[in-house]
Amino acid sequence: MKINKIDHISIAVKDISTFGKIFSELFGISFGAEREVPDQKVKVVFGTFNGSKIELTAPASPDSPIAKFLEKRGDGLHHICLEVDNLEKCLQELKQKGVEPLGKISTGSYGKKIVFLDFKKTGGVLIELKEK
Ligand code: ZN
Repeated sequence: MKINKIDHISIAVKDISTFGKIFSELFGISFGAEREVPDQKVKVVFGTFNGSKIELTAPASPDSPIAKFLEKRGDGLHHICLEVDNLEKCLQELKQKGVEPLGKISTGSYGKKIVFLDFKKTGGVLIELKEK
């Protein structure tokens, strides 16, 4: 399997504006407009600098998977997103290696195809795959 690049690193936060302010004040990163991702029941903003992206993810509703995560672990690193050319092909390859996706392929914040992998099979790190 060929990974193109790290697309973004995501931080789960209860409150996007508070965290966004910390990151802008400390590192001068400015974040774009807030977007809702209905498929994931989250709100996200992206901070972009020199081709790198940091995503802040907050729950859009109490039954969001992020709400559960925040309840257990508090604000913090949530996932790493890797960009691939062909998501279906990657998933087939991963299935042969015993790694299943968490749920089906869905639509991410910029209309791209995304899927999360079972973190029990990826060393406890949640990995999102995103199609180019
Ligand atoms: Zn993400």
